[in-house]
This record gives sequence, structure tokens and C-alpha cells, in this order.
Amino acid sequence: MVAAAGAGGDVGLQPRVVSGGRVGLETRADLAVHGVRMTAPVSRRAGAGPSDDGHVVLAGRGVALPIVPTSRYEVAGGRLLFDGTDLGVPVEPVRRPRFYDLRTADGIPYEKIARLHGRDVLATTVLQTCVRYQEPDRCRFCAVEESLRAGATIRLKTPEQLAEVAEAAVRLDGVRQMVLTTGSTAAPDRGARLLVPVVRAVLDAVPGLPIQVQCEPPADLAAIGELWAAGATAIGIHVESLDDAVRARWTPGKATVPLARYEEAWAEAVRVFGRNRVSTYLLVGLGEDPDELVAGAERLIGMGVYPFVVPFRPLAGTLATERDGAVAPDPAVVADVTRRVAAALRAAGMRGGDQGAGCAACGACSALPEAGG
Ligand code: SF4
Repeated sequence: MVAAAGAGGDVGLQPRVVSGGRVGLETRADLAVHGVRMTAPVSRRAGAGPSDDGHVVLAGRGVALPIVPTSRYEVAGGRLLFDGTDLGVPVEPVRRPRFYDLRTADGIPYEKIARLHGRDVLATTVLQTCVRYQEPDRCRFCAVEESLRAGATIRLKTPEQLAEVAEAAVRLDGVRQMVLTTGSTAAPDRGARLLVPVVRAVLDAVPGLPIQVQCEPPADLAAIGELWAAGATAIGIHVESLDDAVRARWTPGKATVPLARYEEAWAEAVRVFGRNRVSTYLLVGLGEDPDELVAGAERLIGMGVYPFVVPFRPLAGTLATERDGAVAPDPAVVADVTRRVAAALRAAGMRGGDQGAGCAACGACSALPEAGG
């Protein structure tokens, strides 16, 4: 059993004051944890990234919000409501993109190859299986193979397929950047080199499209330079927690890769891609000490690595939800950590938007943009 992380549920949830049609940090943290009632044309279940979410434009910003039928927040009539009270914030669901209606010559729907995130990010998991997916190695918050089991995606996307979909998504739906992630492989590069020909093929089809690649620290750090040379704009090397005890509990397979190895990979990535072109996820609510999380984020910022702070989400199909009964963190903790990390980012002159591509540039899954990070 994983320790419950924070309060969860709707206990203590109160309407938040929102001014000027914008969403404050506390409201954004509340929404990230408690979700909204809504119908969203762009949403999905399981897989990597923001599953069980609906994508909306909230006060002009693309955000991914958990769809929770029991939430006291609701999107109705283009407004955000709390217990039926209009909070004065405009919300528009992201419309279903036109590229979802296309198929490859061999009949595969484009939406099984790549998905729209937020309002203008094309995202895909190039390899939808992970060598760490079997227990006891599997990350307890991960559902990467569930969308494959459900038939919502294909196992391996080829460079040609992704180039075709990217070209259509840019042309038909105004996509501005692309995220390529992958399940890990048993190879020494952990799958990183799978992304190299994909970056090249997409850029041949859509010259200049900013692309972020995401991978585990490759054993051979030269793979990072190969991704840069292929044309990737930014790289995410995601650790999720800097606390070894938390890592052992939540990411037992990945935790066999020592933090020192992550630090070497981040340093090499900053050397190659540049400061603030490298990022990592830090999840709030895995049972870590919030002060230590913030101190760790500050160390990353000092290295030039952007810590993308997001609340842990108990997603369908994950071991955390199905087995452990884990719950989402207290929104007040999410807001506090986010505020402090955003302040450190601002002090260092590191803005998510300056990453060019990737989750920090998108910001839809984090409250950091509302906190000025
Ligand atoms: S922050 Fe990352 S995972 Fe979330 S919607 Fe944006 S690109 Fe996708």
C-alpha cells in the first residue's frame, strides 16, 4: 500500500476568488487535483502524459484538466463554475482536430499515431511498450501500455508515419510544437536512439517545427548529442522524484538507475542543448518532503534544468489507483510548492516558454504558468 498523499477528495475545497477573468494559482491547483465536470472533444484514457484529462483553453491558456464527474467545478456555457457559481473565467474546450479524421495509406487512423495536447502540441509515445512495465519494476503511476491494450494506439510508430501526421497536424490544426516520448527498452540507450530518425523525418516534412524528445538517461551519453544533431529543440529526462526512498517505492525499475546517473545525463544535456532546454518532471504528492522537493528543484535550476512540477494524479489503469488506493495531494501543498519553484525559476531567468518545445513550453499539465514559471 502506498501512503496516501495529502488530503484528496473534496474536503476543505472552497470557492476561490478570481480576478480579471484569470485563474489564480490556488484555483489552478484545485482544478489540477479535483478536476472538472465537462464534455471535452479532446481527451483520452491511459497511456503516457495527461490521460483521463480534457483539454481546454482556460482564460486564454491551454490546460489539461482531469475529468471528474463528481467535481464541484464545472465547465458549462463557456464559463468555469464552482457549485453552480460563475467564477468569471472563460473556458473553451479544445475542438477535435481535423487530422484525427485522416488515415495512413495502410488504414491506420492518425489519432492512433499521435495526439493533440493542449491546443497546439502534437504528442506521441513512439514505442508504446516499456521494459519496466512488468512488476515489480513498473512505475506505480504509469499506464503507458493500457492504451495499447485498449486498441487506442499502435505499438511502434515509424518515422514515416509520424512525419505524415505531423505535416497534417501543422497544416490543418495549427500545431506549433511536438513532443516525442518513448517507453524504455533494454538497449543501452534505453530507447533514446529510436527517436533520432523520427526527429529527422518530422523535420524533413515540417522544417523548423520545435520538437522535444523525452527519454531515460542513456547509458551511452552520446545518444543525447545524436538527438540534438538530428534537430531536437529540447530534451526531457524525467526523474519524477529526487528522494531515493520515494523512487524505490514509486518507480522501482527506474530507481535502479542512480540519481548520479540522472545528474550526468542532465549535465550532458545542458552542455549539448543549452541552459533551459532540458527539463525533468517532479511529481508533488508521492510522500516526499515539500521543502526537500523545492530545494532539489532549486539545485536543478542551478544546473540549467527546468523542474516541471506537477501534482501526482491517481489515474485509471495504474497500480497506484487500482492496487494502492493512492490519492491526489492536497491542493494547498501543490500551490505552495509550485509558487516557490516558480519564484526560483523567475530568479534564474528560466521561463517554460523559452524551452521552445515540450511540457515546460506547453505548461498545460502544471500550475507553474499561473505562478509565473
Ligand atoms: S504539459 Fe506535456 S504532457 Fe501535458 S499536455 Fe503539455 S505536452 Fe502534453
